[in-house]
Amino acid sequence: VSRAVSGHSRPEALRLEIDLIPAMREEELAEFLRRESAASGKRQLAGVLSAHLPRRLCDTVLTLAGLPVDRGASALSKVDRARLVRQTKALPIPITGTLGFKKAEVTAGGVALDEVDSRTMRSKREPELFLAGEVLDLDGPIGGYNFQAAWSTGWLAGGCV
Ligand SMILES: Cc1cc2nc3c(=O)[nH]c(=O)nc-3n(C[C@H](O)[C@H](O)[C@H](O)COP(=O)(O)OP(=O)(O)OC[C@H]3O[C@@H](n4cnc5c(N)ncnc54)[C@H](O)[C@@H]3O)c2cc1C
Repeated sequence: VSRAVSGHSRPEALRLEIDLIPAMREEELAEFLRRESAASGKRQLAGVLSAHLPRRLCDTVLTLAGLPVDRGASALSKVDRARLVRQTKALPIPITGTLGFKKAEVTAGGVALDEVDSRTMRSKREPELFLAGEVLDLDGPIGGYNFQAAWSTGWLAGGCV
């Protein structure tokens, strides 16, 4: 996500929403809450929601939906239910920018891939130059893709194949 934010002229104009329960559609979650609120007696709403979310996150979601954390599950109004579903399925996360280069983990940009022979990583412009890793215009999501790109291109550039 930082990739999109860092290249944007007005990051605060961007809108980021997190779906906390992607396995359920909005209508399914609304129906689950309606059913549970009708049947739950003295149970707390956070307890009902915790069937799908970590308990402490439930408290936060309730607060963001304008509901007390100790709200009982029974008699949940349609408006409150809709607000809760909205916070859960589209939790808005304000964006102010990134933490800058010092905190960055991966750089975007670099030598264009079409300027490099992908079998040897030799530069098409400078035949004595071989390129690998971050210096290339190649980046992926955090989770090992950048390590893998660095190792694989390094392996090729080193003539190991
Ligand atoms: C905090 C952090 C967390 C990260 N987490 C992940 C992750 O979870 N998953 C993932 O896939 N990627 C992650 N990355 C990105 C990943 O580390 C890099 O993409 C990868 O290390 C790039 O490898 P590289 O060999 O191209 O460059 P580098 O690892 O940066 O190596 C370049 C080397 O060149 C040296 N050097 C620079 N200038 C000179 C010079 N003039 N003379 C001699 N030596 C020089 C540097 O000291 C450095 O050792 C993370 C990066 C950071 C900073």
